[in-house]
Amino acid sequence: MQTPNPLLAGLRGRCPNCGEGYLFDGFLKVAARCEACGYDLSKADSGDGPAVFVILIAGFLVSFAALFTEFTIHPPIWVHLIIWLPLTLVVCLGLLRPFKGVMLAAQFMNKASEARHDD
Ligand SMILES: [Zn+2]
Repeated sequence: MQTPNPLLAGLRGRCPNCGEGYLFDGFLKVAARCEACGYDLSKADSGDGPAVFVILIAGFLVSFAALFTEFTIHPPIWVHLIIWLPLTLVVCLGLLRPFKGVMLAAQFMNKASEARHDD
């Protein structure tokens, strides 16, 4: 069996150990175990890392697009509101899951996990 690239597997929302089972149990909740290889995913915790990257990237993209639109077309404020607010939501939700998967895969690659009392 060929070992998958953990970062690509995490980007696709798959187990970083085998690349087959699902990493998430729901939209952002990490599954307790991989359903394909049984790898313990409960130790994985990405914290606020993915949210920070998503905020920075989405903030840059939407702010740049809104400013560019304002300075070139000068639309009324309601046009900004109906375009940029939903776009911000879509970009953030669209990026959050892949970024969380990549950060969890990076933890797997670097063998980092939360320190526990039973360790
Ligand atoms: Zn697996």
